[in-house]
Amino acid sequence: MACGLDATHLQVDQQQKGSQQANSYHLYKLQASNYHELIDYPFEIAEQEKFDFIIHDNEHQTLHHSFYLSGKQSANLGRLQQDITQICQTYVDWLGDAPFDDYTFMTFASGQDYGGLEHINSTSLITPRNDLPNANEPKLPSTDYQRFLGLCSHEYFHSWWVKTVRPDVMIDVDLRREAFTPLLWVFEGFTSYIDDFMLQASGVIDKANYLRLLAEQINRYYQTPGRGNQSVAESSFDAWIKLYRTDENTGNAGISYYNKGALVALCLDLILLKNSDGRYRLFDVVKAFYTQAKQNDSKRIGISSADMGSVIEQFMPLAEWEDFERRYVNGVEELPIEALLIANGVKIQANTKETADKHVPWGMRCNETPAGLKVNRVMRDSLAARAGISAHDVIIAIDGIKADTKQLTTLVNTAHPVECYLFRRDELMCVQIQPETTTKVKPRDETTGMTGAVPPHKVSLRLAKEDKTLENDNEQLKSEAGWETWLNVMKR
Ligand SMILES: [Zn+2]
Repeated sequence: MACGLDATHLQVDQQQKGSQQANSYHLYKLQASNYHELIDYPFEIAEQEKFDFIIHDNEHQTLHHSFYLSGKQSANLGRLQQDITQICQTYVDWLGDAPFDDYTFMTFASGQDYGGLEHINSTSLITPRNDLPNANEPKLPSTDYQRFLGLCSHEYFHSWWVKTVRPDVMIDVDLRREAFTPLLWVFEGFTSYIDDFMLQASGVIDKANYLRLLAEQINRYYQTPGRGNQSVAESSFDAWIKLYRTDENTGNAGISYYNKGALVALCLDLILLKNSDGRYRLFDVVKAFYTQAKQNDSKRIGISSADMGSVIEQFMPLAEWEDFERRYVNGVEELPIEALLIANGVKIQANTKETADKHVPWGMRCNETPAGLKVNRVMRDSLAARAGISAHDVIIAIDGIKADTKQLTTLVNTAHPVECYLFRRDELMCVQIQPETTTKVKPRDETTGMTGAVPPHKVSLRLAKEDKTLENDNEQLKSEAGWETWLNVMKR
C-alpha cells in the first residue's frame, strides 16, 4: 500500500488454526485529521515495485521520498531512481525547502492512459508503460520517457505551486460548487513552463531536447487559431465549461491556459531577465510567493490578480507588468516569443505553408471511413472554411473521384478550383475549394515583434552558438547575455 499519510501496519502473515497454509494479509490503519486532509491523500493498494530516495533541503534536512510503480511493466527502476532523484533535488535546491517532510509518487502503468493529479505530499500518476525507461534506455531519455519525466516534474512542482500557493478562491473551497478564477494560467501555465525547464536544469535532458519540447509548446499555440479570440485569463475562468468539455470548435474558439500560460510564463521570464540584466526572473516571482506562504500560520497562501502585480512589482516596474498583463493575459495580442528568443540567442526556424498543407490539408482534419472522408475539424479562415466545409461533413468525391486521404494529399497544392461533393447529415452538397493565388502577408507589426508573415505552422528552435551562421542573421544574436543565463536556474 502506498499513501502520503503514515500508515500503521497492524497485522501480517497470520497462520490460521488447523491450516497448513499461511493466510497472508496486511492490515493498515490510516488516519486523517479532517475531511479536507482525507480527500487530499489518495492511497493505492496493488502489487507494486518500489524504491526510496532522500532529498536534502538547504538546511540539510532530509526529506524521505518513495516511488511506487504498479500495473504490468518492466521498467528500469535504477535509471528511474537516478533521474527522478536529480529532478526532485533540483526543485528543492531552487526553492530552498519543501512544503512536506516526505513525498510519495504513485504511478500506474497502462497501455495508453496518461495523466496526473497533485496532492500536498504525493501524486497519483498514470502513464503508458512505453513511456517508462527500459533496460537499455539511452543516456539521453527517449521522447516517450521525457514525457513521463515531464509528468513527474509537473506534479511534484504543484506541491509548491497549487497546493501551497494557489488561487484565492481555492483556499477554503465549497466543494458543492465550482470555484472560478482567472489565474489558472498562472498555476498550470507556470507549471507547464517550469516542468520541462527543470528537466534540462537538472541535467536529465540536454538543451537541444529542451528546445524541442519548447518548440512543441510553441507549435501548439500557433496551430490554435482560437488564441486570437479568447484571452488566457478568460480561458482560465471558463475552464469548467470549456477546457474540460472540448468539441470540434474548441481550437477555433479558444486557447488552453496550460499551453498559452506556459508561453506567457516563458515571455515573462525572458522579459524579467532582460530588464534586470539577468538578476531576476520568473523563478524569483514563484519563490517570493512561496516565502509569503511559509510566513502564514496555515503555511499556504491564496493569491489574486492584484497580488500578482504587487509581487512582480518587486522585479519589474509595475506599469510594465500592467502593460504586459493588458496585452498578453487579458488581451489576445500575439506573444512576442520570436523576438524574445532571438534576443536570448535562440533562433526560431519557421515553416509555414508546406507542413501545414501536409498535416491539415486545406485546414481540415479528416479521417478515412468507408462512407468517405469524415471531417473532424475545420480551422478558422482556412480554405476548407471559406469553401463552406463544416465539421461532421462526409466528403464523398473530390475533383470527380472518390475521396480518400491519398487523393486529398495529391490535390492539396493544386492551382485550379476543386469541386467537392459531400454529405451534411443526409443532404448532398457541392462546394468549391478556391486555391490561394497569392500568399497572404500581413505587414510587420513592430509592437508584437512578429516577423510579418502569417504565423508559422511549425517551428524548430536552435541555440545560436551551435550554428555560427545564424549569428550573421541578426545583430541581437551577437549579444552575450543570452541563453546561458536563461537556461540556468541555479547559477546566476
Ligand atoms: Zn497541473
